[in-house]
Amino acid sequence: HTAKTMQQQLAVATLQAMQTGGWRSIQIRAKARMCANQEVVCHEDFCLHARDYGAKLAQRGVLPALLSGPPHLDPDRTFAVAHAAEVCPFEVSLELAREASAVVCDYNYVFDPAIALFGLADEGALEDTLLVVDEAHNLVDRAREYFSPRLARSAVRQARRIVEGHRQKVCRDLDELLGSLDELIEREASGALGEREGSRRIELDPRPLAEVRLALDALVAPYFTFKRRNAEIWLARDPVVDVLLSLARVTDLLQDGGRELVPLAERSGGGEPDEQLRVYCLDAARFTGATIARSAGCVAMSATLEPFEFYRDLLGFDPDRTDTVSLPSPFPSENRLIVAVDEVDTTFRARARWYGRIAELVAELAPPGRNGLVLFPSYAFLQEVASRLFVPDHTVEVQRGDDSDRLRREILARLRGGGKPVLLLAVLGGVFAEGVDYPGEMLSEVVVVSPALPQVGPERELLKAYFDDRYERGFEYAYLVPGMTRVVQAAGRLIRSAEDRGVIALICKRFLAEPYRSLLPDAWTGGEPASLRRDDPAAAVREFFVNLDGRP
Ligand code: SF4
Repeated sequence: HTAKTMQQQLAVATLQAMQTGGWRSIQIRAKARMCANQEVVCHEDFCLHARDYGAKLAQRGVLPALLSGPPHLDPDRTFAVAHAAEVCPFEVSLELAREASAVVCDYNYVFDPAIALFGLADEGALEDTLLVVDEAHNLVDRAREYFSPRLARSAVRQARRIVEGHRQKVCRDLDELLGSLDELIEREASGALGEREGSRRIELDPRPLAEVRLALDALVAPYFTFKRRNAEIWLARDPVVDVLLSLARVTDLLQDGGRELVPLAERSGGGEPDEQLRVYCLDAARFTGATIARSAGCVAMSATLEPFEFYRDLLGFDPDRTDTVSLPSPFPSENRLIVAVDEVDTTFRARARWYGRIAELVAELAPPGRNGLVLFPSYAFLQEVASRLFVPDHTVEVQRGDDSDRLRREILARLRGGGKPVLLLAVLGGVFAEGVDYPGEMLSEVVVVSPALPQVGPERELLKAYFDDRYERGFEYAYLVPGMTRVVQAAGRLIRSAEDRGVIALICKRFLAEPYRSLLPDAWTGGEPASLRRDDPAAAVREFFVNLDGRP
């Protein structure tokens, strides 16, 4: 189970390399991308591929055709065969998954109760399944999102627009119920926030919401009948159904009552203010832990799973049944140089005094004749340094918050290009830090400016208070580990194969001080973080590149 497409390709390649015949593997692709209809409207009146599905599947021999092909069931091939036979490719891929010994899919198909596959949410369904969670550090935040549903007035209003003006009883009843739901959200938000924008913890009684839900549930069947008669209002994503699902999830979690589930009232600003009720899940360990416990076993892996207790606690692994193992990097350590520069202070309070010096350091450390990536904790910080930066031998590219895909591709093309070397300034946690790979000569240096702790804000502070209370590790779990994980993940872009070589430079005095330095991987420090300090880091970098291939 993996989070990103890039990782899925790796998992598929690994399975294919293991194939000796006799068993099958499959990659599950999201429904929207496996849909053969113009839009995802899974109803036989609106989708040819849903009509007479069972009969066509059998008559046209779709499953035998696919199962007699290569042992890895590739989504492109499944799509082509199913499309030609006029049956739904996504449904076919689910049927095939039942025949496969290994399934590669996104986390949400296992851990998100809203869309878990093959009845995986059911007791016993995972008994014979071994879960392998790749890039497991990502699952902490993803799982938190699965259990943080929201109910927004804008969504309720959208649903009302579907039913208002129709004279059928079901529409009038729905309109009235949605109206009372809208009022309820407005009342809670105004009670908590007055006229202000923002987010505030509230006490939220689940009973009134549960009553609305019950009444709405009773209208679902008549509503679908009404829709079938009014083909023109059949929508791919039905706003009425969306509200019902959100309401169900919010109500369920409120009724659960766990102290890690915090009700919030929120108002966003902008052109049209919107109010919403949200259950904010501070810790999804109880839920992910339940899924893990129902499986035959679970292996969670990542380049950044330390400190192990953090991930063990927050993913819900049972301490008595969990083993940890730390494996050395498979790549030669002489392929990379790691330096830490601790003469500057990048804490929020102190950084303004150091912008100029940081710009000088970035310039001094720039890899001669090669590309470098310089990462900052925020766009504001990045801009301050960029405006002071002078690197005549490099082209400076700057990531902006609103970069389009095209701009990103252009920047990557320039990194690949072989023209004047590029120094790319980007933010930690962003697409250039985590979303792309830089094979071979594309990237020779990653400079990380500051440990990139998440910004202090009401939600982080709620997390901190909860982790303090639960694990006595508030700052560490809410700020420190997520920040340092980003640093190590970003630096990990540099060396992805035995051929990759380059420099990692860390800029800030905190990297060599506690509690930060003990979170630097042993593979970087040899257990001795102070060894990363150099008398003349710029000279060390130049020397590394000279030795690399004899050219400066
Ligand atoms: S049934 Fe399949 S092909 Fe038809 S709309 Fe749904 S996902 Fe698309």
